[in-house]
Order: sequence, then structure tokens, then C-alpha cells
Amino acid sequence: MFHSARLKLTAWYLLIIMTISIMFSVIIYRDLSSEINRFEQLQRFRIERRLMETFPSPPPMPLPTANPELLGETRRRILLMLIIVNSGILVLSGGLGYVLSGLTLKPIKNMMDEQNRFISDASHELRTPLTSLKSAFEVFLRDKQPTTNDAKSLVKESIGDVNKLQSLTESLLELAQYEKPQEQITFKKISLPDVANQAIKKIKPIADQKHITITSKTKEISIKGNQYSLVDCIVILLDNAVKYSKEYTSITVVVGKTDGAAFLSVADHGAGIAQKDIPHIFDRFYRTDSARLKTTTGGYGLGLSIAKKIVDTHKGIIEAKSTLNRGSTFTVRLPVSFS
Ligand code: ADP
Repeated sequence: MFHSARLKLTAWYLLIIMTISIMFSVIIYRDLSSEINRFEQLQRFRIERRLMETFPSPPPMPLPTANPELLGETRRRILLMLIIVNSGILVLSGGLGYVLSGLTLKPIKNMMDEQNRFISDASHELRTPLTSLKSAFEVFLRDKQPTTNDAKSLVKESIGDVNKLQSLTESLLELAQYEKPQEQITFKKISLPDVANQAIKKIKPIADQKHITITSKTKEISIKGNQYSLVDCIVILLDNAVKYSKEYTSITVVVGKTDGAAFLSVADHGAGIAQKDIPHIFDRFYRTDSARLKTTTGGYGLGLSIAKKIVDTHKGIIEAKSTLNRGSTFTVRLPVSFS
């Protein structure tokens, strides 16, 4: 498809360039032809005048005229030259057009490739719980005399899969929301310690379940941003910190300012991330091998890509530093501007 679109675009470029070039060639040919005619008439007139001056009476021989063969040859030469120039333009603009159309279509191709990859990843993730639900129902139906307990355990099992489907679709919707143009998100002056405290409050119940303590060190800093989405972003970081940490560990949230930019960091003492995985963890659906093995931690590899999208809409950066089996620190840096 990319190739045929590229050829079509090249053909359009060629059509436009050749139309202009042929139009100019026709004008040049017409002008030069009339210029040759004019020159021929001028020459004739000069010769006539000179002869009249030399022989006041009618000349003894017919007046010499310009050689019509020479004039025809000159016209043919001009035509040939214009054909050669146009052929050169055709070949050159064909080659250049092909290169240019490739460059023009490349970003569109990359976007389409990414979208296709996203659709196939999302369908793959959706298929897993759906297949599990389907086979559980089929097994239940094959049972000739199912008991109430069988039905209850089926429902219990199914709710787990439905929950997975729900959380996946919610994440997908959230991701789609941040793909929208930035103008649709309202920005106003917000307090970063407020953002951190709201996120901590939301995560506290699941941290308590694992006896993980969350401490915070915050300085009063205000930025221009969207409170709701930034709280979401910090919730994602805190949720991961809890998910990938052992019981009875601690998490630290710091809000501060360095080099004129505000920062908000979440540090844990959990499983850590291998160096080879760090460049990919913000990609959609990326999960490290160890995270994939631990099915209990749930997740679809969408959290950090949502967090990155949120930070991007705030013109900030998000970075991760981690040591395997020691812990990770995620830092969000945001510009302090109110314009
Ligand atoms: P998931 O839903 O799988 O947690 P994320 O996009 O939030 O997806 O994270 C991507 C991957 O990055 C995770 O699968 C995990 O391997 C790794 N990761 C993220 N945060 C942490 C953390 N605090 N500690 C260890 N690994 C982490």
C-alpha cells in the first residue's frame, strides 16, 4: 500500500511539474518562432532599403529572401532542444519526486504501523481473558448436572476475567484520551504537594495490604497543569511501586525544584528493572520478562505509557533509574511556568 501510494504521489508531482514545464516550452517555442519571423522580415526590409538606395529604379534581379530551409532548421533545432530539456526535467523530477514522496509519506506510514501494532497488541490482550471466559462456560455447559457450587465457582472465575477486561478497556480509554489534542485538557495553577498527597491517599489502602509505608518530603511548588491527570500519573507510579515491592518495605515521594524545574519522584525498594528494559518500559504493552512471569501483579504494560503521555501534555519529562533487586526511582520533571 505504501509503495502504490508513493507511486501515485510521484505521478502527481510529475504531472504538475511536466504541465508547467510543457506550458513554458510552448510559450518559449511560440515566442522564438515569432522572433525568427520578425528577424527575417527585418532583414528583408533592410536589404530592400539598401537596394532602393543603390538602384533608385526597380532592381534588375528579384530580391533575395531569407533561406526558408535555414529558418525551418532553426525551428527544428529549438524544438529538439526543448524536447531534450523536457525529457531531462521528466527524468530528474521523476527521481526527485519519488524520493520526496517517500519522505512525505514516511511519517504517515510510521503512524499507521504504530496504530496497527497497537490494534494487534490490544486485540491480543483482549483475547486472553475472553478465551478463558469462553472455555470456562463451555466446560460448565458440558457438565450434565452442574451443582450450585459449580455455578458459583464459575461466576467467581468469570468475575476475575471480567475485571481484567474492564481494567484493560479503562486503560485503553485513558490512553486514547491523552492522544487527543492538548487544547482539550484544561490547565490551571496547581500545587504539586497537593497532587502528591491526593495520589498517596488513593494508593494507601493497597499499600497497607502489603504493609508498605509511604513517606513524603514536599516543598510548596505551584505549576501550570491539570490536577486530575497529574494525580493519575503519580497514582500509576505509586501503584507500580507497591506492585513490584515486597511486603514491609517503604516508598518515598519527594516534591522539589532543581535547575528552575519542578520535580516529583517516587522511589521504592522493590524488584528493580534490568538496564536493558529501561528504554522500553514507557512503550505501550511493554512488560519486563519477570513482570510477565508474575501473573499475580496483573497489568498490561499500559500504565507507564499513560504516565508518559500525561507528562508529555505538560511539556515535562519522565525518567527511570533502577537497580535490579534494589529498587527504582521514577522522576517527573515539569516546567514552572504560568504563561
Ligand atoms: P504494568 O501494568 O505491567 O505494570 P507499566 O507500563 O506500568 O505496566 O510498567 C511496565 C513495566 O515496567 C512493568 O511490567 C514492570 O516490569 C516495569 N516496572 C514499572 N514500574 C516498576 C517498578 N516500580 N519496579 C519494578 N518494575 C517496574
